Amino acid sequence: MNDKNCVFCNIVNGTQPAKIVFKNDFATAFWDINPVAPVHILIIPNKHIESINHLQVKDTLLLGNLFQVAKNIAKDLNIDKNGYRLVINTGPDGGQSIYHLHLHLVGGKKFVQVFK
Ligand code: 5GP
Ligand code: ZN
Repeated sequence: MNDKNCVFCNIVNGTQPAKIVFKNDFATAFWDINPVAPVHILIIPNKHIESINHLQVKDTLLLGNLFQVAKNIAKDLNIDKNGYRLVINTGPDGGQSIYHLHLHLVGGKKFVQVFK
């Protein structure tokens, strides 16, 4: 499914501009418009999946691919050694604002520990 009212679907289909860093048949990665760190990339499936709540078993490989893309971009941008954070916000309490599944890749600064 491709939702024409979805800003991330529109980035995938090229009608919404974005600073794209990677694209293949399954995934697209682009710079977040409002970065919280020196590196802040969003990695999304090209197909519209609203959130982790909407994942199907058949999406398992696709989800794995998103992590592979994140790993490769972290290496390309030279933040792999110092480390980075991968975040998937889900639903209102999780702070999700765009309902097209996305992985935040954030790095280039040291984050505080969230869970202790
Ligand atoms: P969420 O809050 O859903 O986890 O993350 C959504 C992210 O998308 C936010 O970090 C926000 O800055 C980013 N974002 C929202 N609209 C756009 C847009 O049109 N272009 C880009 N590149 N990022 C966007
Ligand atoms: Zn979408």
